[in-house]
Amino acid sequence: MLTFDLHGIIYRDLGKYPLCSQINKATCIILNMETATDRQERISWWRRDLIERARVAVIGAGALGNEVLKNLALLGIGRLHVFDFDIVEISNLSRTVLFGPTSIGKSKAILAAERTKELNVNSNAVVSGRHLDIVWELGAGYLRKMDVVLGCLDNLEARRSIGSKCYEFAIPYIDGGIRELGGRIQLHKTGQGACMDCTIGEGERPALRNRYSCMSAMKSFQQQRVTPTVQVSSAFVGSIVSQEAVKLIQGKPVSFGSVISWFGETNDFDVLRLVRNPNCPTCSFPPTRPINELSISSESTAQDLFAHAGSEWSFILPSPFVRKFTCGLCSRSFETMKPSHHCKDTDFSCIHCNNAELIDIDKIDTLTAKLEPEVLLLSLHNLGIPPFEVLRGTNDETTALFELSADLNKFTELT
Ligand SMILES: [Zn+2]
Ligand SMILES: [Zn+2]
Repeated sequence: MLTFDLHGIIYRDLGKYPLCSQINKATCIILNMETATDRQERISWWRRDLIERARVAVIGAGALGNEVLKNLALLGIGRLHVFDFDIVEISNLSRTVLFGPTSIGKSKAILAAERTKELNVNSNAVVSGRHLDIVWELGAGYLRKMDVVLGCLDNLEARRSIGSKCYEFAIPYIDGGIRELGGRIQLHKTGQGACMDCTIGEGERPALRNRYSCMSAMKSFQQQRVTPTVQVSSAFVGSIVSQEAVKLIQGKPVSFGSVISWFGETNDFDVLRLVRNPNCPTCSFPPTRPINELSISSESTAQDLFAHAGSEWSFILPSPFVRKFTCGLCSRSFETMKPSHHCKDTDFSCIHCNNAELIDIDKIDTLTAKLEPEVLLLSLHNLGIPPFEVLRGTNDETTALFELSADLNKFTELT
């Protein structure tokens, strides 16, 4: 068989196709021009341009993320952005098609992005990987640039964080979850039924704080939660997550506000409407508007923020900014000057009397123009605000969002 691959186009031996003998040679050549994505483009409603233009964020590059990325690469999705802060471990290898034994110890996000780029049948595809904690280090402005966000996560805190940001910016959010031999896929879009946060029961909410001590510092020791599962579960759920994303990109109906549940033991498959929580902390309020794009970055100071936004605004910090703590036994004070999510629980301990109990913490929850210069001259980054973040501001009359838009140039994959 004659096969030439020229810039992704495959010309096959004309004699293989009986149709060729009945039509002229020029038409025959056209009929036999195949691209890697030929089969999907034969679907009557398929639009290749939409696939090539699509901007998709995949949050989590574990077992489920691997499956989703592999699928999206083979579909030829034009822009794929991967996030994870884990490294590859040996126990991942039975469920991660993008990793091998030489991947152990390397960043999941970076490696998954590299392999996804290699697999992508669209040679012009942009694939990026970022090794970061998506709750604290991914500015919400990034998600605003996406057509759809796919949650391939293993913890409730990250699901809620991403789901709530997507609600705020009206970006569709598809969340996959796996169990032993089964899983579920939740489909969310602002204004179309329950949001991600609606589906978190009161009994589950303490799990949102699993990583933190009572002082909002990171626990220095955390019990590793391990989900018993097999590769077929992530493959199956990853397929449905990818399928729903493709339907959305192609403009096909997607049943937002629903959960698709798959029970592998019995081959039962349910699609149920999710119930809205009337007291949901996220969607009980309409998305905040307007979104003001400020020409400052996370390196700008708090003073710069007020100069651009206006001094009448106050901004809730992502986590409390700890200035100092005072020992309740010896009354000695210790300067901290860090956001609490950059603190370890062991940081709050008096080195003189070894006391970690009777501690008084001096912290700032809200940034205002009236704070002391020592705080106002700190960079927003040092105050715990990530690059390209969208801050919620309030004044006496209203609430609005403010994006650190000058940070866009740090993310060349978005331009
Ligand atoms: Zn909700
Ligand atoms: Zn002390």
